[in-house]
Amino acid sequence: MNIHEYQAKALLRSFGCPVSDGRAVLRAEEAKAAAGELDGPLWVVKAQIHAGGRGKGHFIEPEAGEKGGVRLARSVEEADALARQMLGRTLVTHQTGPAGKQVNRIYIEDGSDIERELYLALLVDRATSRVSFVCSTEGGMDIEEVAASTPEKILSFSVDPASGLSDFHGRRVAFALGLKGPLMKQCVALIRNLYRLFLEKDMEMLEINPLIVTTDGHLKCLDAKMGFDNNALYRQPDILSLRDETEEDPKELAASKFDLNYIALDGEIGCMVNGAGLAMATMDIIKLHGAEPANFLDVGGGASKEKVTEAFKIITSDPNVKGILVNIFGGIMRCDIIAEGVLAAVTEVGLQVPLVVRLEGTNVELGKEIIANSGLNVIAADDLSDAAAKIVKAVKG
Ligand code: GDP
Ligand code: MG
Repeated sequence: MNIHEYQAKALLRSFGCPVSDGRAVLRAEEAKAAAGELDGPLWVVKAQIHAGGRGKGHFIEPEAGEKGGVRLARSVEEADALARQMLGRTLVTHQTGPAGKQVNRIYIEDGSDIERELYLALLVDRATSRVSFVCSTEGGMDIEEVAASTPEKILSFSVDPASGLSDFHGRRVAFALGLKGPLMKQCVALIRNLYRLFLEKDMEMLEINPLIVTTDGHLKCLDAKMGFDNNALYRQPDILSLRDETEEDPKELAASKFDLNYIALDGEIGCMVNGAGLAMATMDIIKLHGAEPANFLDVGGGASKEKVTEAFKIITSDPNVKGILVNIFGGIMRCDIIAEGVLAAVTEVGLQVPLVVRLEGTNVELGKEIIANSGLNVIAADDLSDAAAKIVKAVKG
C-alpha cells in the first residue's frame, strides 16, 4: 500500500525527521486559509497523487496551466490560485501512464531555499533479506537514470538485523553525500530515525528524493514516498487509515475486497485460473500463442461460487478484454463450483466476448455438464495448450 506525500511527511515529522510545515487541501475553498497559515515568503503547491515525477509532469486540461504538479508561489493569493488550477485536473507523469491521474488533494508547503538536492532511500532488499540504504549525490532526478548512466554515483549497503543500526551507518551515508560538520550530525540522526520509522511501520520502501541541504545549512526531506507491506497492515491500523482508494485500480480494489489475487495488466485475454503457478503458466502460454493476458488472477483453492462470480465480473468490467480463458485444475477447488460461478456471473452481467473453458480434476464431469446444459456459447478445451490456441483464435480470428 502506498500513501500520499503529505501523509508520509506527517509520519516523518512524528519520528523527528526534518520536513517543512504544510497543509493538505481537499477542497478549493480551503486553499487560501491553508496558505495563509504558512509563513512565506515562498510557498510550494504540490499535487498529491500516488506517482512520482510530478514536477516534470503536465496537465491534460489547458486551464491547469503549462507547468507540472509542483509549483512555487510568492504570495498567499498565488498559492491559492495555483491550488485551484490543479484541483480536479488530470496530471500525467512518467509514472502515471498517458491517461494520467486526477488530482483530488493538494499539499501547500512552506518553500525552502535549496543549496543541494540529494537522494536517499530505504528498502527491503530481497537478495540479502535485509533493509538496505541507497543514497546518491544526484538527487531530484530519476534514480533509475542515475543507476543506468552513472552507477558509481550510487552507494548502497544493507544493515545486519542482528547487530542493528549504529551511527557508523549514518556516517557512511554522510561521507557518500559529502555532508560534513553539523550536517553530518544531522545526517546521523536522520538515518537513525528513518530506520526506526521503517521498521516500526512495516515499510517496504521509503524514498526521500530530494533530500536537500538548505542555504542556511540544514538537511530537509523535501519529497517523501512510502510503501507498506500489505501483509502487515493488519497490525498497522493507523497506516491502513491513510489508504486512498481513489488511487488504486478499481478492479484490483474490488478484487482485494473479495480476497482475490488479481493484478491488472494491459492485454486482451482475461484469465481466471486457480493457483498462482498455473496462472503464470496460463499467461505464458497465451503469449506463446501470440496474444497478451489482460490480468493475473488466482481465485485460490477454496473459492466459493460468490467469489468466482465476483472474479468473473471484475474480468468482464475491463474494456480491454476481448476474450476470456477459464483454466481450472480442480484439486481443492471443485470444477462444478467454478462452472456454477461462471454461470451465475454470465447470467448477471452477460457475455459479450468469446469464452474458453478448460476444466480438469475434481468433479470435472459435473462441471462440464453444468456448462453444457447452460446453453451458453462456451468453447470447451481439453488441455492448456488447446485452450490458449482456441481463445487466441477466437479473439484474433
Ligand atoms: P516529484 O517531481 O513528484 O518528485 O516532486 P518533488 O517534491 O520531488 O519536487 C520536484 C522538484 O521541485 C524538486 O526536486 C525541487 O527542485 C522542486 N521543489 C520542491 N519543493 C521545493 C521548495 O520548497 N523550494 C524550491 N526552491 N524548490 C522546490
Ligand atoms: Mg521527488
